[in-house]
Amino acid sequence: MSQTTIFELLGITGISIGVVAYVPQVVHLAREHSSAGVSGRAWAMWLTSSLLIGALALHRHDPVFIGLQASSLTSTAVIVLLTHRYRGMVCETHAHLRTGASDRDGVPGATRSSVND
Ligand SMILES: [Zn+2]
Repeated sequence: MSQTTIFELLGITGISIGVVAYVPQVVHLAREHSSAGVSGRAWAMWLTSSLLIGALALHRHDPVFIGLQASSLTSTAVIVLLTHRYRGMVCETHAHLRTGASDRDGVPGATRSSVND
């Protein structure tokens, strides 16, 4: 096995770990409809970052670098969309983070509050 192959395998392993790391956030947003503690602005900045770095990866034709940015771009885009969709909604687990807002829209599994932007 060549040294390049070893480093490519390390990179692919790193990408896989990165993909798995996004899963808990995506699952919580999708299942609980709760964006408590999730900063839509911060994730939008990560999305923008992934787009810009992804452009460099494409320019360099580096498959591992492209794979990393494609996975980051996909994950951050999903998180930004779900955070926007469930903006201000809080699950029962995170209800203690609410700042006095009432359950005004009656959405099952989550309520709206002002814990994030
Ligand atoms: Zn929650």
